[in-house]
Amino acid sequence: MDTQLYDTVIVGGGPAGLNGALYLGRSRRRVLLIDSGDARNMAAGVMHNVLTNDGATIADFRARSRAQLGAYDVTFRDDEVVSAERDGDQVVVTTKESGTFRARTLLYAAGVRSVLPPVPGLADLWGTTVLECPYCHAWEVRERSFAVYGGSVPSECLAATLTVWSDTLTYLTDRRELPQDERDRLTAAGVPVVTDGVSEVKPHPEGVEVRFEDGRSASYGALFLHLDIEPRVAPLRPWLQAPDLESVQTDERGRTSLPRLYVAGDLGRNMQQAAMAAASGGLAGMAINADLIREDRPGSLPEPPPPSPAP
Ligand SMILES: Cc1cc2nc3c(=O)[nH]c(=O)nc-3n(C[C@H](O)[C@H](O)[C@H](O)COP(=O)(O)OP(=O)(O)OC[C@H]3O[C@@H](n4cnc5c(N)ncnc54)[C@H](O)[C@@H]3O)c2cc1C
Repeated sequence: MDTQLYDTVIVGGGPAGLNGALYLGRSRRRVLLIDSGDARNMAAGVMHNVLTNDGATIADFRARSRAQLGAYDVTFRDDEVVSAERDGDQVVVTTKESGTFRARTLLYAAGVRSVLPPVPGLADLWGTTVLECPYCHAWEVRERSFAVYGGSVPSECLAATLTVWSDTLTYLTDRRELPQDERDRLTAAGVPVVTDGVSEVKPHPEGVEVRFEDGRSASYGALFLHLDIEPRVAPLRPWLQAPDLESVQTDERGRTSLPRLYVAGDLGRNMQQAAMAAASGGLAGMAINADLIREDRPGSLPEPPPPSPAP
C-alpha cells in the first residue's frame, strides 16, 4: 500500500495530465499520475498541430513526455481510477488494481469519449477515412472528394470549413428536413445535399464507400462528421453529487467550485485540441501550486476570484 501523501494525483496521462505533471514536477511538487491508456485520439494513431510533434505518434509523444518527467518527482501508474473523493483536507483516489492513494489535490484530466452515430461500418473506419476535425486530419486527405454526414447533428459549418481542403463536397443527411438556415449556409458554401439516408459505410480503395437506404452507393476520399461527446467523469460522481461537470463552476485555470478539485483538457473550458489541452494542464498546474502555497503560508498570496459559470 502506498502511504505517501502526494501533493497532487493526476487522473489522465494525455496532453493535459502530462503537462500538468510537468508544471507541478518543476514546482517541486510530489505528483502521482494515473492513466488507463485509452486516449480520445488513439484511433488516429498520430497527432497534428502540436509544434515539434506534428505527425508524432501518440504512443511516442506519451513515452517521450514520461521520460522527460523522470527528472522530477512524478510517479506513474498504469491503472484505472474507479473513484475519487474528498476526505477533509485530502483527496482519496481508488484504482482498479493498485489500491488507494491520498493527495492534497486532484487534477482530473480524464478527457472525453467521442460517440459515433449507430451507422454500421463507421467505427471500423473511425480515425482513418471517417474523421471529425478538419484541422487535425483534412491536410492528409486534401483535394480528395469529401462527404459530410449531417445525420442527426447539423454539420453545415463543418462542410463550409472543409471547402478550404476540397472543392468536391457532398452533404449527406438521414431524410431529416433541413432547416432553412442550414440549407442557406450549404448553398452559400456551394455544397450539394443528398437526403437519401445513409445505411452503411465500407472501406473503398478511394477512401470510403457510402451505401444509401435506396441501395445506391457512392465513394468519397473521406467522410467527415460531428460527434457527440461523453465526459469521462464516472469516478467523480460521488464528489460532484451530479451526473456531470455541468453543476461545477470552473475558472480559466481549471479551479472548480469544489475545493481541491481541478480539471483540465477536453473536460475543461478550452477548445478540444491537444495543444489547448496541454496548455490548460499547465494552467491548472500553476493554479494548484499557488493554492498549495496559500494553504501552507496563509496570507502570502491574494485569493483568486471565485470560479464562475463557463461563458
Ligand atoms: C480521432 C481523433 C483524432 C484527433 N487528432 C488530433 C490532432 O491531430 N491534433 C489535435 O490537436 N487534437 C486531436 N484530437 C483531439 C485530441 O485528441 C484531444 O483534444 C486531446 O487528446 C485531449 O487531451 P486530454 O489530455 O484532455 O485527454 P486524452 O488525450 O483523451 O487523455 C485522457 C487520458 O485519461 C485517461 N483516463 C480516462 N479515464 C480514466 C480513469 N478513470 N482512470 C485513469 N485514467 C483515465 C485515458 O486513458 C487517457 O489516456 C483528436 C481527437 C480524435 C477523436
